[in-house]
Amino acid sequence: MKIAVLPGDGIGTEIVAQAVEVLNVLDLKFEMETALVGGAAFDAHGHPLPEATLKLAMQSDAVLFGAVGDWKYDKLDRPLRPEQAILGLRKNMGLFANFRPAICYAELVGASSLKPELISGLDILIIRELTGDIYFGQPRGRRIATDGHFPGAEEAFDTMRYSRPEIERIAHVAFQAARKRSKRVTSVDKSNVLETFQFWRDVVTDVHKDYPDIALDHMYVDNAAMQLVKEPKRFDVVVTGNMFGDILSDEASMLTGSIGMLPSASLNTENQGLYEPSHGSAPDIAGKDIANPLATILSAAMMLRFSLQQGQAADRIETAVKSVLASGLRTSDIWSEGCRKVSTREMGAAVVAAITKTSKG
Ligand code: NAD
Repeated sequence: MKIAVLPGDGIGTEIVAQAVEVLNVLDLKFEMETALVGGAAFDAHGHPLPEATLKLAMQSDAVLFGAVGDWKYDKLDRPLRPEQAILGLRKNMGLFANFRPAICYAELVGASSLKPELISGLDILIIRELTGDIYFGQPRGRRIATDGHFPGAEEAFDTMRYSRPEIERIAHVAFQAARKRSKRVTSVDKSNVLETFQFWRDVVTDVHKDYPDIALDHMYVDNAAMQLVKEPKRFDVVVTGNMFGDILSDEASMLTGSIGMLPSASLNTENQGLYEPSHGSAPDIAGKDIANPLATILSAAMMLRFSLQQGQAADRIETAVKSVLASGLRTSDIWSEGCRKVSTREMGAAVVAAITKTSKG
């Protein structure tokens, strides 16, 4: 099993180091190879996704990714900005299915901004289509308007588009995921306004005919955004497009207490995957040893389960994380009265210790 380790920028290096420590204590045979990506790669090689990094990622069974980006790169031409590395990896590896579980751990109920009864026991899986939609649609650009409200004025435009096979494959992923859970899928769209999402709704409805055991409902994205904070437990599997999924999954992350708790997996048709926390490189807290490494550690667990077929090892990590939270250890982002505040490294070491303790019986 080969894992490409791409820590990236900001807190990426700090949190990935902790996930690697956790993987190392599992007594599994991995080959792990580290490479530069994002701003770090731009500084060293003049490109956020150097060819050697892409090659390593493509040849590995899985990629463990930290985060990329820093405000100091914001003035670079768009193709050279750190965030392009992640888009390049998704595109080249064909990572079309993004899984973002939002689970509220019993111990963190108090860290959410919602009332405990709304989120206690919450366990939602948001499945976001990752390689289509307005983020990749062509044409896009800037031009002088020839029509619209202000002909002759400067304007910018993007293209929202989805093909039938793109929608079909993500719908299959969602229905199959629902089979392993509570057999409910909510498809989120904006079919009342957008042609692309009327098509989305039609295709998801067609694919649903293959899954008579799964209940499907459709919801407009504005209503879904409201329902996520009003009654989040009404959802189980949520499937949606690239842009709506981007926004809704960040909203869902706050239900769980902190974006620092939210792992993610992005898979292609061969189950090769890229695993990363849902948050960014957090330049505001980088280098301070205070970032929460748990989203990255839980992403490593997803990697073991989905791409490396090591479900038991994944269970061990998740159990260790729960026991560390139960023992009252918290990084600053999830800290509350009565808990012990720990650093990034202390949190990682505590998870390692919990795994070691269970292996000793
Ligand atoms: P961010 O997710 O980096 O940070 C948002 C807020 O959450 C900040 O206050 C940060 O301190 C906090 N936070 C994030 N992760 C945390 C953790 N593990 N523990 C504790 N607190 C945490 O988003 P941003 O500030 O909008 O973006 C910063 C940079 O990250 C930008 O350059 C952006 O483009 C990039 N970014 C990268 C990715 C990625 O690599 N996949 C995703 C999102 C943003």
